[in-house]
Amino acid sequence: MTKPIKKLAVLGSTGSIGRQVLDIVQTFPERFTVTALAGGSDAGLLSNQLRQFKPKFAYFAGNVDMPATVKSLSMEEIAAEPEIDMVVVATSGRAGLNPTLAAIRAGKQIALANKEVLVMAGAIVMAEAQAKHIQILPIDSEHSAIFQCLKGEPNEIDKIILTASGGPFIDYSESMMANVSVDEALKHPTWKMGKKVTIDSATLMNKGLEAIEAGWLFSMPLDRIEVTIHRQSIVHSLVEFVDGSVKAQLSMPDMRVAIQYALSYPERLANSSFPRLELAKTKSLTFERIDYSSFPCLKLAINAGKSGGTYPAVLCAADEVVVDLFLQKRVRFTQIAEIVEKTLSLHHSTDKPTLADIMQADKWARDTALSILSKVS
Ligand code: MG
Repeated sequence: MTKPIKKLAVLGSTGSIGRQVLDIVQTFPERFTVTALAGGSDAGLLSNQLRQFKPKFAYFAGNVDMPATVKSLSMEEIAAEPEIDMVVVATSGRAGLNPTLAAIRAGKQIALANKEVLVMAGAIVMAEAQAKHIQILPIDSEHSAIFQCLKGEPNEIDKIILTASGGPFIDYSESMMANVSVDEALKHPTWKMGKKVTIDSATLMNKGLEAIEAGWLFSMPLDRIEVTIHRQSIVHSLVEFVDGSVKAQLSMPDMRVAIQYALSYPERLANSSFPRLELAKTKSLTFERIDYSSFPCLKLAINAGKSGGTYPAVLCAADEVVVDLFLQKRVRFTQIAEIVEKTLSLHHSTDKPTLADIMQADKWARDTALSILSKVS
């Protein structure tokens, strides 16, 4: 029996993950079709995607010429559109939160790449997903690895071990770190990603956000999530069980492997275009303890996750603002952690926040981070 074609909404289609989602769709036209596209900044690319994939629905944050056949909707409306089977949330920052909730409420399958959704509002999103019996399928390579390791293993997990490449500055001293340029920070040693996540990978903020996200996805307290430096980016993460047995998922660093698994889950589709792991060529896989003092953003994120309340939302918002300023060369690399830390220290967190509390904390954090910057520069 042939499988029904899965109708996708790709939110964030012009970003790095979104483009790779469309690449998978093109490889399997008999399995996936694009019913909706949403882009945030690249009007030219979105126009091309609209012509190529001919979706029924689309959203663009700015001005774009929509073909007459395309109905313009908001991302929340797209997420709830009855025709759509799966919503791929490949937006970045806070943009994915409301569409993800709309998709859950409409009973859609969800493939999630936008980690801030769970970092900001994990308690709300997971509770709504559980109530609707919706499994959130992870797209991030680490979470996909853990998800794959846990297949057929419902319980008895002792800890999760997240791997981190360490980014371009893993061997830098504190003084070297103070002077790194935007170009240097954008040169990730193993992964090709969007700018925001590449900078977050250089500060290791990204690994902290991933730890919080993993905590929500796999119901694991943060003190049972360990981070280890693994420079080759081949072991994407590991799970240790109560008997001391450890499972890992390995593949070449290519995001399409994790993306395709989320799209086709629970099936695996043969794809000969993916690079294959050749162990003899790989030679060695190394694991090192992390030096938290060199990467204050990681510690800030873990602490914000442990404190809970509105701290994680403040962390995300302040980081989004400051990383943007770093990309504009308005703050130094080491100021990213300094301004995020200062913002967190000024925050009065709300316990068990509502969505409105989270949005308020987000706005407060953006304003506060900017006002701290105006005082230091
Ligand atoms: Mg990752």
